[in-house]
Amino acid sequence: MKEISCKLLVIGAGPGGYVCAIRAGQLGVDTVIVEANYLGGTCLNVGCIPSKALIHAADEFAKISRMAAGESPLGISLGRPEIELAKTVAWKDGIVGRLTSGVSGLLKRSKVKIVKGVAKFRDGKTVVVESETGTQIIRAEAIVIATGSAPVALPALPFGGAVISSTEALALGEVPRSLVVVGAGYIGLELGTAFAKMGAEVAIVEAEPTILPQYDAELTRPVARRLDALDVKVLVGAKAKGLTAKADALLVENSDHQEIRLAADRILVTVGRRPVLDGWGREELVLDMDGRFLRIDDECRTSMRGIYAIGDATGEPMLAHRAMAQGEMVAEIVAGKRRSWDKRGIPAVCFTDPEIVTVGLSPAEARRVGGEIKVGLFPFTANGRAMTRLGEEGFIRIVARADNHLVLGVQAVGQDVSELSTAFGLALEMGARLEDVAETIHAHPTLGEAFQEAALRALGHAVHI
Ligand SMILES: Cc1cc2nc3c(=O)[nH]c(=O)nc-3n(C[C@H](O)[C@H](O)[C@H](O)COP(=O)(O)OP(=O)(O)OC[C@H]3O[C@@H](n4cnc5c(N)ncnc54)[C@H](O)[C@@H]3O)c2cc1C
Repeated sequence: MKEISCKLLVIGAGPGGYVCAIRAGQLGVDTVIVEANYLGGTCLNVGCIPSKALIHAADEFAKISRMAAGESPLGISLGRPEIELAKTVAWKDGIVGRLTSGVSGLLKRSKVKIVKGVAKFRDGKTVVVESETGTQIIRAEAIVIATGSAPVALPALPFGGAVISSTEALALGEVPRSLVVVGAGYIGLELGTAFAKMGAEVAIVEAEPTILPQYDAELTRPVARRLDALDVKVLVGAKAKGLTAKADALLVENSDHQEIRLAADRILVTVGRRPVLDGWGREELVLDMDGRFLRIDDECRTSMRGIYAIGDATGEPMLAHRAMAQGEMVAEIVAGKRRSWDKRGIPAVCFTDPEIVTVGLSPAEARRVGGEIKVGLFPFTANGRAMTRLGEEGFIRIVARADNHLVLGVQAVGQDVSELSTAFGLALEMGARLEDVAETIHAHPTLGEAFQEAALRALGHAVHI
């Protein structure tokens, strides 16, 4: 049995793990990373990147379809388009391949040793890796658990056959004729919208009274309107009960407690993700939990000395950029630098249509924290660039303390607002006040001008409305 020793061992090469390993390698830390499946983890292989590739393809197809239907106000007309999903998926796989081999190259450049296989703790300093080529023992001074998350299954709808998770949805060979999405969180809505745009008849079943339940109604209304325009049937306050005997339809208890049938070629279950806490020898350790996640402190240390945890295994928000930021921080701590988690906000984006961005506190959250607040909202109907892009739906909203105008949060809904998350996050992280945003010159004509105008409006003197 082969044995190796290193200073840092990272288990899992998702965005948390691989960023941690690359940064540690850059800092001269002798690092090994173990991955059971594919470099890049959920994010690069079956999450963020492939879903956005599919969403982009669906947007392009929907745009051309509108033109073909004679619905383009731009005066463009053309013939009816076709989509060959297998080709779209192959294109998406090409992007995934480029990115994952990029990660491999970056790890090698940082002199990180990559080990393929399933890692399992033997004790707090030793891990056994099983792979097709044999068993290997790795001893490390510090170990990072970055095992990520997996889709949650519903007991009444186990995955298999027509019932699929986001992973299978991202690799379908053809557009299903009919698709029922169970769960109207961001993953379900992103994929449901994409398939509706590609021509599937889509229904969405959500147990909560609203879609995207963690967002306020002002933000989700434009998304609900667009789903309606795409003829997506949305059933809120409804529960998926299981398949019919022939497995050709989903039985649903609607909000009036009546049982209805939704015919479906595919049923996509997106009711959340669970941290991966099994298969890596947790039973050999004594790790404190925080609800269903591993408990960590503000340096990502677990309750055991020398063992860190990052990413989806450690809690909400389960987002790639949180995992990456934690990974980078832990690498620096292991290298001897003084770091701790002191982020003011973590942006969250729903790549729905239109997109939603939030960072920091919403008006309701800010009020709950206490103190007077100022809120400024600027609609895209008053933004020239939005008009030129046929994207007038939505707004940017800024929340600030009433006394010193410190920005507490920014929310936006609109076409391509995901790209504005950078500006919003920077404002929050830099401790900007309304005046800082309002007095920064924003390039014209851009969607970003709505951010400046929202700040001006909170100050009581918006110019363009
Ligand atoms: C459809 C979809 C869309 C998403 N879109 C976005 C988005 O737009 N933006 C965003 O920020 N987030 C998005 N996410 C979430 C994002 O993918 C995760 O937050 C992120 O991947 C978490 O990173 P991680 O490093 O914690 O874990 P993961 O990416 O889950 O990686 C964990 C890795 O650990 C490996 N592993 C587990 N156990 C072992 C073991 N015992 N031995 C060796 N290896 C092991 C796994 O094989 C995996 O590769 C999306 C997720 C999905 C499913």
